[in-house]
Amino acid sequence: MTATHDTVPFAEAIAAFDPVLGLETHVELGTASKMFCGCPTMFGGAANTHVCPVCLGLPGSLPVVNRTAVESTIRMGLALNCRIAEWCRFARKNYFYPDMPKDYQVSQYDEPLCFDGYLDVTVETPDGPREFRVEIERVHMEEDTGKLTHAGGATGRIHGADYSLVDYNRAGIPLIEIVTKPIVGAGALAPQVARAYVTELRDLMRALGVSDVRMEEGSLRCDVNVSLSRPGEPWGTRSETKNVNSLRSVERAVLSEIERQAAVLRDGGRVIQETRHFHEDTGRSTPGRSKEQAEDYRYFPEPDLVPVAPPRDWVEQLRATLPEPPAARRARLRAEWGISDHEFQTLVNAGALDLVEQTIAAGVDSAAARKWWTGELARTANDRGVELAALGVTPQHIKRLEELVGAGSLSDSLARQVLEGIIAGEGDVDEVVASRGLAVVSDDAALLEAIDAALAEQPDVADKIRGGKVQAAGAIVGAVMKATRGQADAAKVRALLLERLGVSE
Ligand code: ADP
Ligand code: MG
Ligand code: ZN
Repeated sequence: MTATHDTVPFAEAIAAFDPVLGLETHVELGTASKMFCGCPTMFGGAANTHVCPVCLGLPGSLPVVNRTAVESTIRMGLALNCRIAEWCRFARKNYFYPDMPKDYQVSQYDEPLCFDGYLDVTVETPDGPREFRVEIERVHMEEDTGKLTHAGGATGRIHGADYSLVDYNRAGIPLIEIVTKPIVGAGALAPQVARAYVTELRDLMRALGVSDVRMEEGSLRCDVNVSLSRPGEPWGTRSETKNVNSLRSVERAVLSEIERQAAVLRDGGRVIQETRHFHEDTGRSTPGRSKEQAEDYRYFPEPDLVPVAPPRDWVEQLRATLPEPPAARRARLRAEWGISDHEFQTLVNAGALDLVEQTIAAGVDSAAARKWWTGELARTANDRGVELAALGVTPQHIKRLEELVGAGSLSDSLARQVLEGIIAGEGDVDEVVASRGLAVVSDDAALLEAIDAALAEQPDVADKIRGGKVQAAGAIVGAVMKATRGQADAAKVRALLLERLGVSE
């Protein structure tokens, strides 16, 4: 089933062809109840427990639109600089598949709630940051499908499975779909533009509070359309890589598809209009179903729902609730913190922006706040492949930690051990300090004892220092730090040591 195509290296592909992109992004809204019924939307739960006659599509049940979902969609549309329809309807998209209990999905077709917008994104290039305007075709509402589990086979796919199970808990959860107009002119930056766009979209939705946009849980999924054409020629046929679910994969899906299509075209072949599946492990995609014959979903206006006609004053009220756009916020914070583009980008890449901002708001000095979140903590999060916020360390923890460091009762290395304890679930700062017995040894007598022990261990080093080789002191300081399990202040140990040996710097 895995068709392996030749590929053309990316730089060569881009030298010969212009890419056109189109991104369709589905986002699960964070409403408490489903799109057309009162069932809860929370993730998980035993199969088929969050269901009712409406989301099971039982005869005679009637849907009612979720007002909060409409409100969230309008706010998203406004934030994307869209026009908001004065009147629009839902449509039935008919297809037969067991994940859709009604045999049709309620969606919007030719009458989307929001349309004609744009989102500006910035990508880093060797010549500095470059801005792209991604035009938005439409933002519309629809309902999610149920979830199928194919059991008994080796792959988890339907082929080779003994039986399939269906869970309708997810059926009817509100989704918005955001579709871009064709993105042209990105050239070699196409993979980065695609990633920057989805990142910006995610940040925007977080800022709006309309979704928690967790890509790992599938609450944001992206279909990536790519086509290639030779300069000056009409656009080529596009492929559509479905359900790409991480930012990195969005970038890689575009890149690998450009490399693949370039090889097909180079060899005089024809790109087939089809869906494709992206594989995280290989960074490549394999063909799905052909779209050469446009499927006929027999769309027609949903007769069971009233049209959505948001009054203009409501739309204006919603416009007034829009948060500061993420790009403007980033520019403001960078200026407030007075740091370089590069330093700021490190914060952004670490996903530390909100946490650093909250830590500073809690009263921690901005350099210290940045140091903790982008240093030790970012590394730990990265090693574990989790988000920074998921480590369990809070801005309040950092505040308390800094207080103790400032008061001299914790050294940096002890503070790191405290963080380790918090991440391991041992409690808050004071609890970890108490249970692990972490405190700086500031008692001179205890330190001198450790210094004397270290000198006795390394008499040759002691002689060197006495002879004026002050650099050699590091070995003794290191031994003392080790003996005190990092609980001493290194500068103080050094000063005591030199005093003990009667040498000066
Ligand atoms: P479908 O229902 O087939 O997925 P949509 O209109 O919902 O179609 O989405 C198609 C996406 O592909 C849009 O983002 C559109 O801008 C984009 N697109 C259209 N033509 C091309 C093309 N030739 N190359 C790349 N992307 C394209
Ligand atoms: Mg599509
Ligand atoms: Zn229901």
